Amino acid sequence: MMDYYPQNERKNDVTNENEIWELAKVNLQKQLGFSDISMNLWFGSMILKVLTEDTAYFQIENDFKQNIINTRYLDDIKAVIAEILGFEVRIVPISIEKDTFESRLAEVITKENNDKEPYEKKESSDKASDSFVSKEIKGENEGLSGNVIVSRNSPGFLPEYTFDNFVVGNSNKTAYTMARTVAEDPAGSGLNPLYLYGDPGLGKTHLLYAITKELTARKPDANIIFVKGEDFMNELIEALANKTPVAFREKYRNADMLIVDDIQFIAGKASVQEEFFHTFDKLYESGKQIVLSSDRPPKDMQQLEERLRSRFESGFLTDIQAPDLELRVAILKRKAASLGINVPNDVLMYLGENIKENVRQIEGALKKMRALAYIQGEEINMGHAKTAVNDVLTNMAQAVTPAKILTFVSQKFGIPEEDIKSRKQTKDIKNARHIAVYLTRRLLDMPLASVGKLFNRDHTTIMSSIDNIEKQLKTSPAFENSINEIIREIKSGT
Ligand code: ADP
Ligand code: MG
Repeated sequence: MMDYYPQNERKNDVTNENEIWELAKVNLQKQLGFSDISMNLWFGSMILKVLTEDTAYFQIENDFKQNIINTRYLDDIKAVIAEILGFEVRIVPISIEKDTFESRLAEVITKENNDKEPYEKKESSDKASDSFVSKEIKGENEGLSGNVIVSRNSPGFLPEYTFDNFVVGNSNKTAYTMARTVAEDPAGSGLNPLYLYGDPGLGKTHLLYAITKELTARKPDANIIFVKGEDFMNELIEALANKTPVAFREKYRNADMLIVDDIQFIAGKASVQEEFFHTFDKLYESGKQIVLSSDRPPKDMQQLEERLRSRFESGFLTDIQAPDLELRVAILKRKAASLGINVPNDVLMYLGENIKENVRQIEGALKKMRALAYIQGEEINMGHAKTAVNDVLTNMAQAVTPAKILTFVSQKFGIPEEDIKSRKQTKDIKNARHIAVYLTRRLLDMPLASVGKLFNRDHTTIMSSIDNIEKQLKTSPAFENSINEIIREIKSGT
């Protein structure tokens, strides 16, 4: 029987596979919003039997359930397993309705080997890099399912984003102290608005969650609104389309505290800035605390209206810088401990010296190492560290995909993705389309015909979009700035 198992399969360690699946199910339930009964119905009898470097094989009780899992839940399961392992694996449910798991597994693996032989090498290397990237991108949204989280029913707030779990060092001390002050005494803090800025992955969202959580605990009756900048924008656009702007306004203008993560998303869209301006003023004038985060200071937000810029600048601006070596190692130790992994000192130093700019990457590398060590049945060593660092750093650089560009442009300009790809010819839509086309071509170096396929256009139309943008780039330094800014944002994965 064992002959059929993939070579690098780890010696049977049932507890660990069980543990992974049990942990994954907790997140899966949150993600799907399922009751215990539905969870049990679909996933109760599912067992993670074999985990290899790239695949998780599940035993499942009958063909019917296997079919449902395959058609509906594969991506969700993949995401929650990736969250635990630190990288994605394929999910393969195997029904035991007609035969034992072992013989069915043997069949499946034999078939897979036959199918993939000619492409084997390329496929597996592509998959490895892709999967980690998409995980990192998804990571940004975890725990925030709806648009807005109000204190009384904050569903998926990541429990680890607390002040206690925030490791403080020179580069983030001021931001941390201000966040804490606001959370402990919003009315008396005098820090209004508090505006935190810094590059991606340095802990802004973490601090905003921590403030929200702390306040929710201290003032259970207060109406605290936490919203991501892009959700504020989308919600407003929807409210306008559905002719319900009054409800939207009431909701935000009645907040006791408004926390907006990634406020840079509202820049560039006049109606959204207009609405935010009035919300801001109303809250500010009634002495309500406002906390904002952004990837840059107000003065560098090119498309921000002047009146908003001056409001933001009148508050308390504080930046978070990249962590120094000492802080990086402190964060590594803390994260390793909370992930329950034992990392030797030379490995800690190696990671600390090589992953410099982004705390999210530090976490990614730790999870990756844990998974590699687990799968190979070894203690974590320098070999794992080198692979992990390599993966994390190269994948960050390659994170741009056509889908990501489209989503980004859609959010940035407030134009639905379908409209960008459609035939509609209004000025705003056309403009967003030209930019999306141009960026796809420029950032991915794709053939015109392939870009054309993505946007349902022939290659001459694609060329004229690109020309259009190139002309504007030549004639307008402001336009050039904003395009460069967009490129920077797309590449940094915000
Ligand atoms: P940002 O919002 O600035 O892009 P996040 O708040 O999402 O960054 O942080 C990225 C990841 O790094 C999160 O998992 C967060 O918990 C972690 N992190 C960042 N800074 C720290 C820190 N000082 N201590 C502990 N964890 C941190
Ligand atoms: Mg963030």
